[in-house]
Amino acid sequence: MSLLDIENLSVCVSQEGVETPLVNGISYSVDRGETLALVGESGSGKSVSSLAVMGLLAKALRVTSGSIRFDGQDLLALDDEGMRKIRGRDISMVFQEPMTSLNPLRSIGAQIMESIEENLGLSRADARARAVSLLQEVGVADAERRLKQYPHHFSGGMRQRVMIAIALAADPKLIIADEPTTALDVTIQAQILDLMARICRDHGTALILITHNLGIVARYADRVNVMYGGRIVETGRARDIYAAPRHPYTEGLLQSVPRLDQDRSVPLKPIRGNPADPFTTIAGCRFHPRCPYAQAICRQTPPPFEGGVACHFPLETDQKEAV
Ligand code: SF4
Repeated sequence: MSLLDIENLSVCVSQEGVETPLVNGISYSVDRGETLALVGESGSGKSVSSLAVMGLLAKALRVTSGSIRFDGQDLLALDDEGMRKIRGRDISMVFQEPMTSLNPLRSIGAQIMESIEENLGLSRADARARAVSLLQEVGVADAERRLKQYPHHFSGGMRQRVMIAIALAADPKLIIADEPTTALDVTIQAQILDLMARICRDHGTALILITHNLGIVARYADRVNVMYGGRIVETGRARDIYAAPRHPYTEGLLQSVPRLDQDRSVPLKPIRGNPADPFTTIAGCRFHPRCPYAQAICRQTPPPFEGGVACHFPLETDQKEAV
């Protein structure tokens, strides 16, 4: 049994009595200690599906089908108190902008210790010692002194290190990191991702890394789920997808971002058009208005999900000609 098993999960938004799917029948699992990347543009459903796992969906959203099992427990059957115990203790989250997650009026130490005391029930002195050790582990020098400082004393990268320390406070089994480096410059991005990968490896913690940038995750993830229009359109081992994407959307994502292994003189190629609007009906494959390989059947019939890819004409090793 995997640590996390999601089966046929759908999440809808309700507006004026009409329910529109934002996540549409996705299934995936995460093993203990594994890093899974959920990749896609904004609106692909990656964050909404993860908020469903955390039991943190906004009021207008609800799970309309499927199941979420974590460590053998049915999360959708838990009440608010049951989910509150799971959050922080067993599953924790790191968000994109640490400034909105940290309380600007409370010291860093108070915020880390609060999480430790609440989830582990340690004494004040033990919680403080653990907070110092966590700050040291995430690479914050002079941790004793820094504990007394406030978020505005820290740079963006340092604040994200503090958020990782808070996420680690109770030694969770799973961390969900939602665009954890998007607000940071490229050099700091790499440092934070390296740090998260090392810490998860050392602690045996599973990691779901949510990002729009397929170029940077391939190096850190074991497996990748590529999401588009609320569905998983391609799944596989990170290195396979990176080397030979099979879905045209995955290929587009890779061509549109800088890759660490790519010649810098190769120009980036953005995906044409805009991401699918969940409130607009698109017949057939939801990617067809943007797909350079679309054919007549793509405009009429949704592609089945077979062999890890949802496409009528998956890319083979010999790339096909764009039409
Ligand atoms: Fe492109 Fe057709 Fe595949 Fe959709 S099904 S991604 S439109 S080739």
